[in-house]
Amino acid sequence: MTDETTCDVLIIGFGGAGASAAIEAHDAGAEVIIIEKLDEPGGNTRWSNCSWFSPPPGTEKMAVEHIDALCFGRTPIPVIEAYVKMAGETKAWLEGFGATAKTTHFLNVRYPTITHPSWPNFPGSAAMVNQTVMSPRDDQPNGERLFQLLAEQVTKRGIKAITGAPAKELITNDKGDVIGATYTKGGQTHTIKARRSVVLTTGGFEFNEEMKNEYLPIYPVTAIGSPGNTGDGITMARKLGAQIWHMGVCVAGFGLEVEGYPGGFGISFPTPHFIHVNKYGKRFANELGTEMHFAWHGVAAFDPKKPGHPTLPSYAIFGEEAFKKGAVSIGTAGTTRHYKWSADNSAELAKGWIKKADSIAELAKILKLDAAALEKTVTKYNEACGTGVDGDFHRSKDTMQPIKGPFYAMEMHLRMVNTMGGPRRDENARVVKPDGTPIGRLFSAGELGSLWGHLYCGGGNVGEALAIGRQAGQNAAKEKPWSN
Ligand SMILES: Cc1cc2nc3c(=O)[nH]c(=O)nc-3n(C[C@H](O)[C@H](O)[C@H](O)COP(=O)(O)OP(=O)(O)OC[C@H]3O[C@@H](n4cnc5c(N)ncnc54)[C@H](O)[C@@H]3O)c2cc1C
Repeated sequence: MTDETTCDVLIIGFGGAGASAAIEAHDAGAEVIIIEKLDEPGGNTRWSNCSWFSPPPGTEKMAVEHIDALCFGRTPIPVIEAYVKMAGETKAWLEGFGATAKTTHFLNVRYPTITHPSWPNFPGSAAMVNQTVMSPRDDQPNGERLFQLLAEQVTKRGIKAITGAPAKELITNDKGDVIGATYTKGGQTHTIKARRSVVLTTGGFEFNEEMKNEYLPIYPVTAIGSPGNTGDGITMARKLGAQIWHMGVCVAGFGLEVEGYPGGFGISFPTPHFIHVNKYGKRFANELGTEMHFAWHGVAAFDPKKPGHPTLPSYAIFGEEAFKKGAVSIGTAGTTRHYKWSADNSAELAKGWIKKADSIAELAKILKLDAAALEKTVTKYNEACGTGVDGDFHRSKDTMQPIKGPFYAMEMHLRMVNTMGGPRRDENARVVKPDGTPIGRLFSAGELGSLWGHLYCGGGNVGEALAIGRQAGQNAAKEKPWSN
């Protein structure tokens, strides 16, 4: 026996997209209920770096051109146009709640290079302007602050949010329209019926190992975000015949994974005195040639003559210059957000996270790598630094800086920020079937079935959660109440 509650619009998932959808649906006159799987709402939005895309007025056409170029034709233009239009309004929308928004600029002072926009050479990149919400406490960009701002607005409106309540099934009527969902709480199954519509905002599948192994181009890859994101929205929408898209796209970079910090620390060196080597002690890519969100591209290759990925794990090998110059990890988000990396790397050396040796042969022994191969690799790289020509991987001349002892190393794995795939949505945020027709009364937003179809520009995910969350909420509230 299940109890039954009724509302106009049911939102499933209380992260950035769910909160935005709830606020807008409420303000359009709907009675809204949110159900959230975890006891603490916020999802990845809360743990994020809080950089979000909001294009300046007059740049919309360029932004559409840029996102289209990054999607490699996998996302229809009207879907991109809807995103850009809604994103253009996000800054003013948040400022209306009292937020202080500030344009974010990433400086090119780290290696691999951290830049924004992510793909400056693609057309229209100048339109990809990001904002952040500043925290009044510490003047830092802050996902926590962003989510609190949204959650305050949800509470202020009296919107009911039920936490610790994972949605299990979508309920449909005779026409196949979605009219509610079941969820569990306290060991019981409950039902919420939605007179107008349901909005799925359950995030990605970062914590669903089976889906990651099945769909991502490289595996294993450990997630650093909120553990509630297990692809539930994908499973629920797929059961109703939704088209599933963009499942192979994700954001993942190199990380040092250590006990207690799943996914681990993002690594970016203060100087370019370093290389990456694979399990065989050999360099495998231009270490500075990847975009930070897509470092996984560099390790996705395999060797036809040897089983498995030669690069999982791989190793960052660096010298005294890189070690002494400053912290090799500066991340402030995800699972490591409460850890302060020491400014001189000494704490992490003492913990054994960074390995040190006086010779390359000794370092290879610690790492269990072939000493002769590693010595050959470092010698060849150092010689190339003398000429400035990286004949193997074409690093730029100014970054060809030699590695001199004492020597240091870290074991590198892939750390995942988020996935992009899920049910496809149209330009009205409706979930659609493979023939493009919508599933009645079902909307979605955020990283669940994101529009990013191939590459991704930093700020585009929180940007999408806020922009399409708002759109989904507005449109969900417009549906006429159904009757039998
Ligand atoms: C460390 C980190 C840093 C990031 N930095 C940035 C950044 O600076 N800029 C950027 O654009 N992107 C960034 N991202 C990505 C971005 O944070 C997310 O893509 C975006 O916030 C997703 O918002 P969302 O609302 O779609 O999902 P989420 O915020 O993840 O919310 C989804 C919610 O749904 C809940 N849920 C899941 N299943 C169910 C269910 N069955 N029933 C009910 N609830 C369910 C989850 O528990 C979660 O609370 C970052 C991500 C991480 C992890």
